[in-house]
Formats: sequence, structure tokens, C-alpha cells
Amino acid sequence: MAEPIFNRVALLGIGLIGGSIARAAREFGGLAGTVVASDRSQKSLDRVAELGFADVCEIDPAKAVTGADCVILCSPVGTYAELAARIAPALAPGAILTDVGSTKQSVMRDVGPFVPAGVHFIPAHPIAGTEFSGPDSGFATLFQGRWTLLTPPPGTDPAAVAKLEKFWQLMGAQTAVMDAAHHDRVLAIVSHLPHLIAFTICGTADDLADETRQEVMEFSASGFRDFTRIAASDPVMWRDIFLNNREALLEMLARFTEDAQAMARAIRWGDANYIEDKVNRSRKLRQNLIDLKQV
Ligand code: NAP
Repeated sequence: MAEPIFNRVALLGIGLIGGSIARAAREFGGLAGTVVASDRSQKSLDRVAELGFADVCEIDPAKAVTGADCVILCSPVGTYAELAARIAPALAPGAILTDVGSTKQSVMRDVGPFVPAGVHFIPAHPIAGTEFSGPDSGFATLFQGRWTLLTPPPGTDPAAVAKLEKFWQLMGAQTAVMDAAHHDRVLAIVSHLPHLIAFTICGTADDLADETRQEVMEFSASGFRDFTRIAASDPVMWRDIFLNNREALLEMLARFTEDAQAMARAIRWGDANYIEDKVNRSRKLRQNLIDLKQV
């Protein structure tokens, strides 16, 4: 059988994304000789051992990365600086240090300073997920047909980038390389702002008077139901994303607020054409996504 891309992959954080990488490595083959799972909680690691999708479970992150030729940070982005400081002395020269975090400039800022010479630092973000979290929630096909964006700092060894791209492609992902700042602006509009709106609309519904709130629950239309699915995501992960993509998210929120005000004005003045035009443009956007197989 052909050599796997990496001999030993260490996953720090073994929830939805870490657990899906481990399962893909097990099910598809060719990705990793050995998969090491590490997590801050022994309870999660015990569950990983029960589920049996990692070869080694190790609570100490420095021990977990020892001897690994690929280390992937898979915890909330707010934990990265501390984790990077703990693992840095144990990273092997020539290893790839990467992550799956939803913000990329913050990862450059928080992890970059700890990366030892000779280690290839390649931040990455699989644009795939669900509203579920924890070791039980992952599945091997999560990344299939989805994009993984890589944001290597200038000067990164292209062979290391190509190797990491191959790793993601073997899990079924399409890959693209881009600048971290560009990544953060794009993700602010396609992911972070929609989550902000979902959390806000759920909060608004929950703030309604008791009687109305009960009716929101009982007669929930599909529009509101879809928002509650998005809003069911992990609070720590989203707190960290919002705080670590502050500028881009606030910029997109300001544009959205302006557009929402324009819609409010159209409704107030009975501007039927404006409303119809907006709905038509949205339908076209949805059709484009379907054509691109991203739905
Ligand atoms: P998750 O299911 O909640 O898993 C995160 C895991 O990290 C948990 O097992 C958690 O441990 C562990 N953890 C927390 N702090 C830690 C620390 N200091 N050291 C080691 N492990 C720690 O979250 P996820 O959805 O997999 O998200 C992980 C990363 O992927 C995040 O950075 C997120 O931005 C990114 N991401 C998420 C999605 C998505 O849709 N979910 C999509 C793309 C990227 P416990 O068991 O103790 O809680």
C-alpha cells in the first residue's frame, strides 16, 4: 500500500472537526499512519477511546505532538495562543503546524510568534460544519465537496502547502490558497454575519412577551426554524469567532444594517419593485449555490 501523506497526525481538540478528520483518516486511508487525539478534558478523550476513531489518546498537548509530522489545532480559536506556547518546544523540525479555525488573521497573530524555525506554519479553514459539537458529532464525509481555504504566510515552502492541500483533497475537499485578511472578510459575510443574525433573531423572539413567545414555539414557520438550527451552534466557538474577526464582522454588519434600513424604507413607502427585486436577487443567489453544488 502507498505511504500515507503523514506518518503521525496530532489533533488538538477532538470535537466535530477534529473527530471528522480522525474518522476520515481511518475510513479513507492514505492520510495518516497514526492519529493522535488530544483534548483538554479526559471525559472527551475517554469518549474518543470508546468510539475508537483515534490510535492514541493523550491529554498533554506537548506529548501529543511529539514525533508528529502534522499537528492540527482543532479547538476554539481563543485557545490557540496558549496551546501554541505549550506545544512549541515539542514540535519536530520539518513538521507542518496547521489548524481548522474559522478566523485566520487571529491565528497568524496568536500562533505565528511561537512557531519554531524549521516548522511549516500553514493556517487553514475547512468550510464545512454542522450545529453539533463534541466527539460524537463528527463523520468521515463532512468535508466532501466542501472548500478548505489555506492561508500560508508569505515565504512558506510551497511543497509543504501542496502536501497539506493533498491531505484535504483526499478527504474530499476542494482547496484554495488565499490571503488571511481576504479570508476573514469573505467568511464575515458568508458565515459570521449569518450566525450573528441568527443569534440576534432568536434573542428577539425569546424577549417577546410570554404569550407571544409561546406562539413562536408552537407555530414556528420554516424561516424561524432554520435560524434556530444555525443558532444552536457552540457558544464558546462563536464567542471566539466574533471576538477574533471583529473588524471584518463589524464592517459587514454595518453594510447589512444599511441594506436592512433600505428595505424598511421600501416597506414603509410601499416600494413594491424594490422588495420584489431583492427577493428575485436572493432567489438567483440560491440557484447559483445549487448549481455550484454548495447546498
Ligand atoms: P467542538 O465540537 O466544540 O470541539 C472543540 C473541541 O476542542 C472540544 O472537544 C473541546 O474540549 C476542545 N477544546 C477546547 N479547549 C481546548 C484546549 N484549550 N485544548 C484542547 N482542546 C480544547 O468544536 P468544532 O466545531 O470541532 O470546532 C473546532 C474548531 O473548528 C474551531 O476553531 C472552529 O472555529 C472551527 N470550525 C468549526 C466549524 C463548525 O461548523 N463547527 C467549521 C469550520 C471550522 P471539551 O471536550 O472539553 O469541550
